Amino acid sequence: MSCGRQKGTIAMAQMLSPLASVSSILFPVAAGLLAIGIFAVDTLVLRPDATAALYVVVVLLSVNFLHWRGVLFLSLGCAALAILGYLLQHGPSYAGDPFVRLLVSLLAIGTTAFLAVKNQAGAAVSRERADLLDLTHDTIFVRDMEDKITYWNLGAAERYGWQSHQAIGQVAHQLMRTVFPAPLEEINTELLRTGRWEGELVHARRDGRPLVVASRWSLQRDDGGRPVAILETNNDITERKRAEDALRRSEAFLTEAQRLSHTGSFGWSVATGEIIWSDETFRIFGYDKAPSVTVDMIVQRTHPDDRAAVRQTVDRAARDGKDFSHEYRLLMPDGSVRHVHAVAHATKGASEDVEFVGAVTDVTATRRAEEALRQSQAELAHVSRVTTLGELTASIAHEVNQPLAAIVTNGEVGLQWLDREVPDLAEVREALHDMISNGRRAGEIIHRLRALSKRTETQKVGLDINHAIREVIPLMHQEVLSRGVSLRLELAPALPAVLGDRVQLQQVIINLIVNGVEAMAPITDRSHELVIRSQLDDAGQVLVAVEDAGVGIDPGNVRQLFDPFFTTKPSGMGMGLSICRSIMENHGGKLWASRNAGPGATFQFALQSHHPEERHCDQDRR
Ligand code: ADP
Repeated sequence: MSCGRQKGTIAMAQMLSPLASVSSILFPVAAGLLAIGIFAVDTLVLRPDATAALYVVVVLLSVNFLHWRGVLFLSLGCAALAILGYLLQHGPSYAGDPFVRLLVSLLAIGTTAFLAVKNQAGAAVSRERADLLDLTHDTIFVRDMEDKITYWNLGAAERYGWQSHQAIGQVAHQLMRTVFPAPLEEINTELLRTGRWEGELVHARRDGRPLVVASRWSLQRDDGGRPVAILETNNDITERKRAEDALRRSEAFLTEAQRLSHTGSFGWSVATGEIIWSDETFRIFGYDKAPSVTVDMIVQRTHPDDRAAVRQTVDRAARDGKDFSHEYRLLMPDGSVRHVHAVAHATKGASEDVEFVGAVTDVTATRRAEEALRQSQAELAHVSRVTTLGELTASIAHEVNQPLAAIVTNGEVGLQWLDREVPDLAEVREALHDMISNGRRAGEIIHRLRALSKRTETQKVGLDINHAIREVIPLMHQEVLSRGVSLRLELAPALPAVLGDRVQLQQVIINLIVNGVEAMAPITDRSHELVIRSQLDDAGQVLVAVEDAGVGIDPGNVRQLFDPFFTTKPSGMGMGLSICRSIMENHGGKLWASRNAGPGATFQFALQSHHPEERHCDQDRR
């Protein structure tokens, strides 16, 4: 509908509306004056042609104000008056009575004017109503009880494509191929009972395209209460439905994706404390869907050991308004433990208040898999350690044998000193001291051996790496010596502690020593020297390097040295360095190899130094 046309219709409606109301006063007065005028002309001037001319003027003037039916009424009234005037003038004796003539004129003109005004006002009102219905964007039509369309507004014509003359007289539901949400009988029953019905319909436009409408029906009854027509107002919601469907679909995708990835989402307004969770977040936390979520609900579900940390993270986030990421455990009502990882991004809303948008992922499966991997790595490390120790058995046996032999010798010597005529007790005492210290040495070696061959859970404590190095030397001593290798320790004093599993770190050291010794075996033209160095690097890390003067590393092998099953030795397994690297990674450290400036290679590892206030202590340090 064009704007100009709308304005014109509104203007006309505004013009007609006051006319209809003032006419109830104006027209009787005008009619009275007109009647007096006609009487005066008719009686005083006594000119029938002048009276007739007056009637014509009246009718012509009325054209300006009245609807055609009003003009018709007025014309008929004037004609009747003219005939009556003629009859009165030429008829019975009382006809000349001026009062009767005035009365008759007043009556005739008044009645005519009343009829004209009534008709005109009625026509204006229905015209105004029809025009107003054309103003709305909604489609409005009226159908009779046979479902035939009797009125069709402009909105309906525009929306459906049929003009009113094409629609009127058609059976509405056939024309628009209506699809009802319920059986039509049910709908009609409700309409007759309540006078109204509302629902969604699917219609077909003239060009066949479907149209989804929110439809409102109201039943019109006549004065006798009989249903006569139905006014149907339809609001096009096709686009809205499409958008709703698209939204529903994308929400369904999102929910499915969240379910598959075990990732829920959340929103948190710090100012209002309002927390919104997605369905998956409710599932992860094991709560039924609820309209409101509180920080207390989260803390309550958190594992008691992690509650303080969670509170701290939440408080810090609320205070600083900065992104956060944390991992903690949930203790579920059935006693099971879930690991969750939450990340949140801080945003500022329109009111400058901080709001967090985040995701929470159930990482239980990942953590369990990591734990299983750690365990199998530990088992593998154990097997490899036992294998290495097995390979070193001869050397270790020799290492234990030595103090035992010394004990026996000292025993024999002691006896000899006692068997003298004057027993030399001082010598006996010395022999006994030697026996004790040799016994201790043998015991120490067996103790180390047992510790290394025992399968224990990874136990990280703060420990002195120099001490750990020194402990393994007795086990390696004989091996190193028998291969003609001289071992030198260059250990930096007063190193900070490192956090680690003593046995696993010693396994790494043993592996590096054995590899170094083996790398020097083929060398015949230079001395076999192995240096074990410890130091603190610039980044505050504790470094341990095992440097040999062996065959060195072939540049082509550098990338594969740490791969499982990579070996260049005829009877090698190729697992040693791979296990050492995973031990170091498990300790948050790293292990690497480099070629020496001179002959040979250096293998070294670096570990973060450990600060005692971080709770751990070197429990097994003796
Ligand atoms: P294995 O000793 O059973 O071969 P490792 O994983 O300990 O298994 O070592 C893998 C390979 O790395 C060795 O076969 C050798 O080629 C190389 N390698 C290890 N240590 C040294 C070293 N100190 N010098 C030269 N090459 C080495």
